[in-house]
Amino acid sequence: MERKQAFSIWYFLIAVTAVMLLQDFFGRQHAQPIAYSEFKQLLRAGKLAEVALTDQLITGTLSAEGLEGVLPKARADAIGKGQGPHRFTTVRVDDPQLIADLEAAKVSYAGQIESKWLATLLSWIVPALVFFALWSFLIRRMGMGGHGGVLEIGKSKAKVYLEKQTGVTFADVAGIDEAKQELMEIVEFLRSPERYRRLGGKIPKGVLIVGAPGTGKTLLAKAVAGEAGVPFLTISGSDFVEMFVGVGAARVRDLFKQAEEKAPCIIFIDELDALGKARGVGVWGGHDEREQTLNQLLVEMDGFESNRGVIIMAATNRPEILDPALLRPGRFDRHVAIDKPDLKGRRAILAVHTRNVKLAPEVDLERVAALTPGFAGADLANLVNEAALRAAREDKGAVDMRDFDAALDRIVAGLEKKNRVMNPKEKETVAYHEAGHAIVAESRTYADRVAKVSIIPRGIGALGYTQQQPTEDRYLLKQSELLDRIDVLLAGRVAEEIVFGDVSTGAQNDLARATDIARSMVSRYGMSAELGLAAFEEPRTTPFLNTPLPEGIRSYSERTAQAIDAEVRKILSEARERVRQTLAAKRAALDALAKRLLEQEVVERAALVDLLAALPEALPRAACARE
Ligand code: ADP
Ligand code: ZN
Repeated sequence: MERKQAFSIWYFLIAVTAVMLLQDFFGRQHAQPIAYSEFKQLLRAGKLAEVALTDQLITGTLSAEGLEGVLPKARADAIGKGQGPHRFTTVRVDDPQLIADLEAAKVSYAGQIESKWLATLLSWIVPALVFFALWSFLIRRMGMGGHGGVLEIGKSKAKVYLEKQTGVTFADVAGIDEAKQELMEIVEFLRSPERYRRLGGKIPKGVLIVGAPGTGKTLLAKAVAGEAGVPFLTISGSDFVEMFVGVGAARVRDLFKQAEEKAPCIIFIDELDALGKARGVGVWGGHDEREQTLNQLLVEMDGFESNRGVIIMAATNRPEILDPALLRPGRFDRHVAIDKPDLKGRRAILAVHTRNVKLAPEVDLERVAALTPGFAGADLANLVNEAALRAAREDKGAVDMRDFDAALDRIVAGLEKKNRVMNPKEKETVAYHEAGHAIVAESRTYADRVAKVSIIPRGIGALGYTQQQPTEDRYLLKQSELLDRIDVLLAGRVAEEIVFGDVSTGAQNDLARATDIARSMVSRYGMSAELGLAAFEEPRTTPFLNTPLPEGIRSYSERTAQAIDAEVRKILSEARERVRQTLAAKRAALDALAKRLLEQEVVERAALVDLLAALPEALPRAACARE
């Protein structure tokens, strides 16, 4: 509709110009322009019949006979071609004698009102039209109107991608079985919402998928839609945020309206973080448009019942910056985490992507998987594609191992630049580091049991992780428990020291946390023999926003500060010595676990317990008894 409108404006402008030109043309053709002096000469010579006067022009008829006597020959010929009366026009000059001369020559004259419509049009309407055309063009350029145009601002039709059938199923998603499992319930619900409605079951409204770029978040959401056979509406969080306040909010409203019409269906919001950043933290003290949009999203999510069959899924790789309001019950309260795939997962993903690729018999996907630690699903898909392209370029019948190796080199180089894969040496360091955490955690009475050890990079900064399962929720911690925590935190670094005689920067966060605990023990909990029973530190955050107090606000003397530092150092160095002894005594376990990690990248609790039990120096009963 808007396109037509724009066109008709142009048509109109063209038509107006054409009319003006034509008028001008015809007027000129019929009336011969002459100079005012010529006009006066002709008047005195009695050649004029009648004239009409306007403010600016004089028009009239003259008889062409005998012009030669009045005007020079050339002009007479030009004006008086042929016989009979001719129309002429001349521009009026300020001549007080004019009327007297006309009377004297007995020419009939009449005043005439100039038609001003053309002038009005030119001076007023045309600029307005040009301005309007320019304005609507700019609006369209800013993407504000979508194809809905100026009158339909906020209709998000242009940006919402609707797929009636995604054609993706769970079979296309590999290596993230846990996530699939968690989403199975939602598939069931979308298949037969009535059954759930009848039973009054509560279905989650919002599912947040968290994972690094390329780990298959979009793919997974599409697979849920595909499995359930429902339409899939996608929009990116960044599409919501526009320059004009109110547009994003209108888009949200429209999106939910569309979804309700299509229910049961899935709304998928990619890059939720672009829209859902915590409010009120912008440089300008907030971002009105984004906040309005976010608020509208919250309102819409609260406003509709999931039982109507609309499930909202969203993806982000930065969950930590999301506004907490988004994660409250009734909104995105279901979280599905996708890690980068481990060895087995990578093998499975490679299998999916080589389904339709002709592989040479010697191709060993097992080996390819082993060579690609740190690759996300998208990287693996890319790898297979590169290899296939290379084979095609060389006109081979099948993709062989040389193609894979070449593709691998290229992709690894690219990823290394982006700092997304580890080299083998780094991998070994991380393996020993994490094994250290795990072995010490398992041998301390009060430390939480290890649930999982992994050397797959997760998030930003962490190269691996050891996940501990708290045995129960704890509000009070004893001194011995705090000390065990410090031991576990230091263990990664100490393991690196023992094995490589050197430490890496990867232990930085561990050290900071251990120091924190030690400092709290001394200055807040009164757990130091040296300083005795006194709290030296105010609570360490301001009452608002959890911001740390500025450095230098403290209520004790410089001497006490030094004593506290000395105590903290003592606690840490004692802990380090204890850990060193433990790890030296359990060197075999450390080596075995590190080796296992290098092979498999992830070791779950069950495998860890088996591994340790199989060693001659099996861990003391006390540690295992608490499971
Ligand atoms: P994200 O949304 O997490 O950035 P995508 O879902 O867009 O990642 O993944 C991009 C592509 O990578 C997918 O289209 C698919 O080809 C491939 N891919 C990613 N993860 C997997 C997986 N687990 N199994 C199979 N293919 C995957
Ligand atoms: Zn660590």
